[in-house]
Amino acid sequence: MINHQTVQLILALRGAGISDHEVLSAIETTARDLFVTPEFIEQAWEDRALPISCGQTISQPVVVGQMTEALCLTGREKVLEIGTGSGYQCAILSKLSRRVYTIERYRTLLEEAKRRFAALKLKNIVPRLGDGSMGWPEQDSFDRIIMTAAAEEVPEALLAQLRNTGLLVAPIGPSGRQRLMVFRRDGDEFHKTVLGKVRFVPLLRGIARTL
Ligand code: SAH
Repeated sequence: MINHQTVQLILALRGAGISDHEVLSAIETTARDLFVTPEFIEQAWEDRALPISCGQTISQPVVVGQMTEALCLTGREKVLEIGTGSGYQCAILSKLSRRVYTIERYRTLLEEAKRRFAALKLKNIVPRLGDGSMGWPEQDSFDRIIMTAAAEEVPEALLAQLRNTGLLVAPIGPSGRQRLMVFRRDGDEFHKTVLGKVRFVPLLRGIARTL
């Protein structure tokens, strides 16, 4: 359903320099109101981060757009996402890649996200509860990796699971000074590009003990 709010959001994304049609279309056709808690439904299509369960946030659409565009997806990639959260970013990735493996450390968030994926009939998502900083050791390398929680450095395990010439997109740096960064693997080297300033919740170690 394309309504006024959707059009406004797409204009905001274009205004922020997001021009990839596939990315814009995936955002346009992913109902963000299904991913927010009921009290924030009214703001669901606004270009802002919103609170979700467990003290976490659903990312700002423009940032979702920038990160997704930076992944340069063609529809054939095997993607790893760290930080499922609401499942919104994951749902968008699932429309633009072959399969998305997503890890969340809060059981409540993971279960909510799984219900949304089922309701939207998104079948190419493999969700798991765990500490994403360890990667997904049972899997071979990934073509793309996206972290949706910030760390001072990219965990070694994630760099190790990125295939040669693959791309990793992540918010990196201490709280208040995070930068959105792209890492491109070239053998044992990683070429870095900085996309801009961002604000993300921190990447925490271990599975959450509370729900
Ligand atoms: N991609 C999400 C953004 C959620 S915010 C969305 O579109 O809604 C970031 C998420 O990362 C939070 O849900 C947080 O619990 C999770 N997270 C933080 N550290 C983690 C870790 N080590 N492993 C897995 N998930 C983690």
